[in-house]
Amino acid sequence: MNAAVVAVAFISACWGSFLNCLAYRLLEGTSVLKGRSRCPECKTEIKPYDLIPILSWIMLRGRCRSCKKSISWIYPVVELLAAIMGIFLWCTTPSNFSFAAYASLASLLLIHFHTDARDMVLLRPITLATIIIAFATASMNWLPISIISSFLGALLGFGILWSVRMFYLKVRNCEALGDGDPELLASIGAIVGPFGCMGILFISSLFASAFGITYALIKSKKNLLKLKFAYGPFLVLSTFIWIIWQKTLMHFLYHLPQF
Ligand SMILES: [Zn+2]
Repeated sequence: MNAAVVAVAFISACWGSFLNCLAYRLLEGTSVLKGRSRCPECKTEIKPYDLIPILSWIMLRGRCRSCKKSISWIYPVVELLAAIMGIFLWCTTPSNFSFAAYASLASLLLIHFHTDARDMVLLRPITLATIIIAFATASMNWLPISIISSFLGALLGFGILWSVRMFYLKVRNCEALGDGDPELLASIGAIVGPFGCMGILFISSLFASAFGITYALIKSKKNLLKLKFAYGPFLVLSTFIWIIWQKTLMHFLYHLPQF
């Protein structure tokens, strides 16, 4: 591993730390420009040496230095995902424009990861910004899909999850999905196109089912259908997996033997 890759990883992880701060402040309704980061519990200002991405959280064992209350796992995970995506995009994107397009889209998805994992909230302005950037960058050939593919991906992503949500609301009288989930998959579809959208839906469903079953077993919950957890983080994680292993997954999912 050369020095440039280490530098990219560190800068990306710091960017992930900023995205955590942005997501937290968007949820709280406070300005991102106002003051230094504070502990969400005791409001003590976090010292610069406790702001090293991922490492500070590990060294403090996920607790605040002052009040010892636990700091969410979301913080290091977002920083780690930002570092992984940063390295991957820096090493693989064909141009600076392509890097900028993917990096900004991945950043918006990481904000969704944080807000949904923390409060089960998907902020509509973030989703809209993602769709607009995806359409704009696809039309300028900064993404490897055409604008038509981007549009179809958005339409398909929204249509599928909206139908699932409506089916459960009307037929089973329960909210199986939040109203932000169809919009999130629309924005993801706009980034990866219709085939990617279906692949991501498949992978995220596997992850979410595995998580739901494990969680129900640990918590000894009998009714799996009444279990409530955020789906957005699984969609975001699956999108990153799709972007990294797109060729392999495309081959695997769309060349399965026909029965
Ligand atoms: Zn504290």
